[in-house]
Amino acid sequence: MMYDRILIRYGEISTKGRNRNKFIDKLRRSVRKAIEDFPKARVQSDRDRMYVLLNGEDGIKVSERLKNVFGIQSFSPAVKVEKDITIMKAAALELFKRLYSDGKTFKITGKRSDKKFELDTNEINYEFGGHLLTNIPGLKVDVKNPDINLQIEVREEAAYLSAETIRGAAGLPVGSSGKAMLMLSGGIDSPVAGYLSMKRGIEVEGVHFASPPFTSERAKQKVVDLTKKLSEVSGQMVLHVVPFTEIQQMIHKQVPENYTMTTTRRLMLRVTDRLREKNGGLAIITGESLGQVASQTIESMYAINEVTNTPILRPLITTDKTEIMDIAAKIDTLEISNLPYEDCCTVFVPSSPKTKPKLEKVQHYESFFDFEPLIEKAVNETETIVVKPIMEQQIEEDLF
Ligand code: ATP
Ligand code: MG
Repeated sequence: MMYDRILIRYGEISTKGRNRNKFIDKLRRSVRKAIEDFPKARVQSDRDRMYVLLNGEDGIKVSERLKNVFGIQSFSPAVKVEKDITIMKAAALELFKRLYSDGKTFKITGKRSDKKFELDTNEINYEFGGHLLTNIPGLKVDVKNPDINLQIEVREEAAYLSAETIRGAAGLPVGSSGKAMLMLSGGIDSPVAGYLSMKRGIEVEGVHFASPPFTSERAKQKVVDLTKKLSEVSGQMVLHVVPFTEIQQMIHKQVPENYTMTTTRRLMLRVTDRLREKNGGLAIITGESLGQVASQTIESMYAINEVTNTPILRPLITTDKTEIMDIAAKIDTLEISNLPYEDCCTVFVPSSPKTKPKLEKVQHYESFFDFEPLIEKAVNETETIVVKPIMEQQIEEDLF
């Protein structure tokens, strides 16, 4: 038996009123992107539901992809069968047995839009329920809270059977909330911050500061790999790699050691803001979590944030490290983040950074040098890469 289609339920976008069509459109695009290496599959949508018509593509593999698409509340793979009661019964039993194990309860939810079909809704429930009960000893009905809800929908062209409701990633379709720049280090936190922002519909572009030759090509590759992971959600992701060496060296010349960290962050933010403007973003995202390190005290944030009015989104601000690591493990970035390559900030890290820097002081130290031309230069020399996910299907094709 092969799945014929997958029924997708929208979830939160159904509450978006007038924007509904826009949301459905974005979701359809995300779904298409997520399954673009299944060329025979087609995506159809109406106000309440979306369908992936599989046309022979593997329903289980396609389902795996749909689990990562934001904006999907739940989905159900369905089998299409001829509207013949004997055939339908056999198919229902086969589908049911795949999910059944001892002690599970069930109910049948019949539906028919073909009013000429010989059984009405109640009769469908009764006939098919009876068929399962006779064939599976010990099976019990539970209409209120069944473990398995076998749905039988009789339409004009055929009958559809589905028994599984798979939870989607929820959230909002990527791109439905505008664009923001994610300050992406090679660490654990920032990829998680990016993922959570994508979950609320933000289109994310990465900005990474590299300081060659103090940071290596492998450190950069690590960030490209993290971007690749994140791009699985959106289909592709842009990454800007900023050459930061010159600015960092100048900071160390100009600013007393215990303030270099604050100035470094301020300059990273200024460069990111410039890139944001250039690329049509509306906010900046960081992986900061309150109190985690010296640069992440509220006093530090106050001194650093002063360089821009752009909204800074900090999805992890109140999250503990263990919670962040749990998400990183779930989205598969933890292992990459744990690779031991040096980051530009660790290379230049002062021995005792100020945990409570004073804004007037940092302004004073920075006032002796005009960083503007260096910022300009860094922005102009930024390398922009479009990163695409590695699709499982492609790997298989490459192998054979
Ligand atoms: P992460 O795990 O994300 O590296 P962290 O706990 O190491 O975070 P910091 O090094 O203080 O914390 O960095 C705080 C935030 O600043 C990061 O989450 C990231 O958003 C940004 N950031 C730090 N280093 C870089 C970098 N080299 N390029 C781009 N952004 C960076
Ligand atoms: Mg870091």
